[in-house]
Amino acid sequence: MTVNRFPEDKILRLDALLCGAGSVAIITHTHPDGDALGSTTALWHFLTASLGRKARILVPDAVAANLGFIVAEGSLTDFSASPAEAAECVASADLIVCLDLNSLSRSAGAEQAVRASKAPKILIDHHLSPACEDFDLVFSETEISSASELLYYILLALPEVGSAEKLPEEARRALMVGMTTDTNNFANSVFPTTLAMASSLLAAGVDRDDILANLYNRYGENRFRAMGAVLSDLMHITPEGVAYFIMDSDFLRKYEICEGDTEGFVNLPLGIDRVKMSVFLKEDDGYYRVSVRSKKGWSANMLARNHFNGGGHECAAGGRLYWPKDIADRKDAAEYLETVTARFMCNRKPEQ
Ligand code: 5GP
Ligand code: MN
Repeated sequence: MTVNRFPEDKILRLDALLCGAGSVAIITHTHPDGDALGSTTALWHFLTASLGRKARILVPDAVAANLGFIVAEGSLTDFSASPAEAAECVASADLIVCLDLNSLSRSAGAEQAVRASKAPKILIDHHLSPACEDFDLVFSETEISSASELLYYILLALPEVGSAEKLPEEARRALMVGMTTDTNNFANSVFPTTLAMASSLLAAGVDRDDILANLYNRYGENRFRAMGAVLSDLMHITPEGVAYFIMDSDFLRKYEICEGDTEGFVNLPLGIDRVKMSVFLKEDDGYYRVSVRSKKGWSANMLARNHFNGGGHECAAGGRLYWPKDIADRKDAAEYLETVTARFMCNRKPEQ
């Protein structure tokens, strides 16, 4: 795929919006992951260093400790920690760019401020079912590894860029972080364009060893103790081949689990031959956060949409399970999960 795959008028319109904006609010999804932070941070570096614009990244809630290394000093405001300051940033922006979300509802606390703004809104995203009607300019592709990859090819298509070398060094690094985490370190959602981008970034000097050391080798011991407990005690496998585990608040306290500590746990059961789908429920305030992963042919997206108030990608999705709306009590989660997945798996045999 070449950098000319976007319609020229769309790129020129984007260029005019970016170059003409006095200040840009960059928004991403709740519980920002490596792609959310990587893509927003890359755009921030490009806007500030390459275009000389004022820009601010607004995250709905706190950044996980293991991702703090890519966040540039003074680039980011957390809506949950500083709601007034964050709302003011959105209100005073004359351009809003949303990255790595398909619906403004995914930006949680930021949604109201974004909807209230009269500034033009741009969406750059790789999830299914984007809410295009809320945006003035939409770049949406699903056959791509990450929002970081989509942003990379968009930036390269801009008249003033053209190649990876022309991007700020910090933007290249942030983009590599986003594509690395969203592909689970190049295990899933890898397309020819993904490897082409990785190759160009490496050639332009990105230090991938340093990124991997920061991402994967700096966790607390608690993560691995918790992983052991999940695999030996918490994980169940239903007769239909759905693995699930539920972390309640006692477990989260016992293992001192913080944001980011359980990243990737939901993938582990997919290594088991008879497991087709993996579901992870993590207790939050009045609901469970739900993560779903599936093997090819089984739709994590559909399960999350139909039964967990969510969505995402075909084989990696998420959502929420509320009580008392969806289940009478938090203790009923396992029964609910077993019932809906049994029906789901029987009704949706994978295509042969
Ligand atoms: P994770 O399990 O890593 O939190 O999320 C996996 C995928 O599902 C991500 O692409 C994420 O954007 C999507 N996702 C996670 N939670 C939700 C949710 O509550 N609603 C929707 N629509 N998508 C979600
Ligand atoms: Mn993403």
